[in-house]
Amino acid sequence: MKADIHPTYYHDAKITCACGATYITGSTRKEIHVDTCSNCHPFYTGKQKLIDTAGTLEKFKKRAAKTTALRSRKARAKA
Ligand SMILES: [Zn+2]
Repeated sequence: MKADIHPTYYHDAKITCACGATYITGSTRKEIHVDTCSNCHPFYTGKQKLIDTAGTLEKFKKRAAKTTALRSRKARAKA
């Protein structure tokens, strides 16, 4: 390796997640903080953890129900 051009490499860099889990890895940064990790991400836990503050999901469900109703009405009118 060329001297004086490489950043310091930490072989025991610590990743700290918001859920409290910690991991040791190799990195040029000594400490890394993350919001989600394989320990708490819904994809890995299989649990749905929805943070729906604006009620966007409710709005979508309402809209979807309306569309379905309209479609079935149109289909009946055609028959
Ligand atoms: Zn986590």
